[in-house]
Amino acid sequence: MVSGYSFTVAERFIRYVQIDTQSDPQSLSIPSTEKQKDLSLLLVKELKETGIADAHLDEWGYVYATIPSNTDKKVPVICFCSHVDTAPDCSGTGVKPIVHKNYNGKDIILPDDRSQVITTKEHPYLLEKIGEDIITASGKTLLGADDKAGVAIIMDFVNYLVMHSEVKHGIIKILFTPDEEIGRGVNKVDIKKLGADFGYTLDGGKRGSYTDETFSADAAVVTFHGISAHPGYAKDKLVNAMKVAGTFLDLLPKNEFSPETTGDREGFVHPVRIDGVAEMVKVEFIIRDFVTARLKQHRDRLDEFAKQATAKYPGASYTLEVKEQYRNMKEVLANYPQIGAYVEEAMKRSGIKFHKESARGGTDGSRLSFMGLPCPDIFTGEMAFHGKHEYVSIQDMQKSVETLVNLVQVWEEKA
Ligand SMILES: [Zn+2]
Repeated sequence: MVSGYSFTVAERFIRYVQIDTQSDPQSLSIPSTEKQKDLSLLLVKELKETGIADAHLDEWGYVYATIPSNTDKKVPVICFCSHVDTAPDCSGTGVKPIVHKNYNGKDIILPDDRSQVITTKEHPYLLEKIGEDIITASGKTLLGADDKAGVAIIMDFVNYLVMHSEVKHGIIKILFTPDEEIGRGVNKVDIKKLGADFGYTLDGGKRGSYTDETFSADAAVVTFHGISAHPGYAKDKLVNAMKVAGTFLDLLPKNEFSPETTGDREGFVHPVRIDGVAEMVKVEFIIRDFVTARLKQHRDRLDEFAKQATAKYPGASYTLEVKEQYRNMKEVLANYPQIGAYVEEAMKRSGIKFHKESARGGTDGSRLSFMGLPCPDIFTGEMAFHGKHEYVSIQDMQKSVETLVNLVQVWEEKA
């Protein structure tokens, strides 16, 4: 279907990853780093050169653009979204992308630090990529395939549509966000201005993967109150909140209910921070499960452990506070089965095996879905995110472009 088209995705990707767009969790500005705009402004310029007249960067660092409809049918407005920033965990300065043409199935030694080796043992997906062209970084930085693969795929998809007016589609919206990696990617998205009915993020991994489910997430704070007294005169008076907290943490199960002992569809609670003195200790938790109703059960279980621990120290008390963080996008997406069904059809037309995945975490799509834009995630080929061993297959990126071209046609046909 895209035969004869010379994809621009790899050439774009190689240019985009060399622009440093690392976000910064310590920064309070929006976007968190000015340098993210270096890429965003380039994307606006390239979109305009392609003929997308309304492409622009807003005051918060978001790029919006519209591809007008070319059909008489009334087709739902579809948005494609990816993030321009790269993870703060690993340097994104001076990225040197290397193309390993016709990959031979061997471990890949990165030339600028030969101790950095991408092994097929740790990354068995590489063995499915033999004969394809793999892009890696050079050993000193991350690659930034997360999510410049998504950015380059969307840009090539736009380029394809502009060159092929015979491909019928409704109105398409493009959205590039900053600061996804520091959890602020959708804070300033103007859903009304965007005006889309459904969205897809391009930020997934293996070819054919489609993620329509994320964790539901709460944060909890258990605060233990003791009674402070001068230690020299504390007999029968002092109650040390740190000891209560220690007892409480020791009551947490050792073989279940934690991130280090669960996988697949199991939920957990996870202490992430502890702070305090004898008089008062705060223990912060995250609570995660695919089933939102179970968050309450996990919370009640924490409450029970806190009660048991406190009972061992007469005079001690505790409070438990819970805050909602995000919800499983499936709760929204279940109402719109066509969103996934059309992706499955588009992948079939692209000769790809569709497989559904669940993310043991959240995505921008989980928040967008609850902000009124149902938004699952489609593969880009990006693998081993956030580190020096990150890689992506050019052919996977091309297959993702082809999937998007087919997807907008499926939406048009079904309208
Ligand atoms: Zn990402």
